[in-house]
Amino acid sequence: MAYDENNVFAKILRNEIPCDKVYEDEHVLAFKDIEPQTPTHVLVVPKGAYSSFDDFSRNAPEAEIAGFIRAAGKIARDLGLVQPGYRILANTGPDAHQEVMHFHLHLFAGKDLGRMIKPPEK
Ligand code: 5GP
Repeated sequence: MAYDENNVFAKILRNEIPCDKVYEDEHVLAFKDIEPQTPTHVLVVPKGAYSSFDDFSRNAPEAEIAGFIRAAGKIARDLGLVQPGYRILANTGPDAHQEVMHFHLHLFAGKDLGRMIKPPEK
């Protein structure tokens, strides 16, 4: 899928709309989700223009992939989440209900997250 420069995370990366920043380095910006689903809900976003995990994993240079993964782990450590734990998730495509077409990880923590994925409520 072609990358849309007008997606909301691209606008945040260009400082066109604000965010509640948690972390930033050469490769990554992380900020609080605007509609948190857990007490801690952080979005970890690569600065490069990748529309999804599929795009990122296929096309990003090794240094960007390594920098991104290292940063995600550091953010979780710096927030004190390794104990009692956290969950990371990357929605990819329609069945996963990906809404923002700029690759991001969700980092969920701050309560017992239960086991894995619950079915949609009927
Ligand atoms: P997705 O379904 O694409 O994995 O999740 C997109 C996430 O981005 C949602 O959890 C949504 O609340 C969050 N989000 C959407 N717009 C904004 C925004 O303008 N600012 C922030 N901080 N989060 C946003």
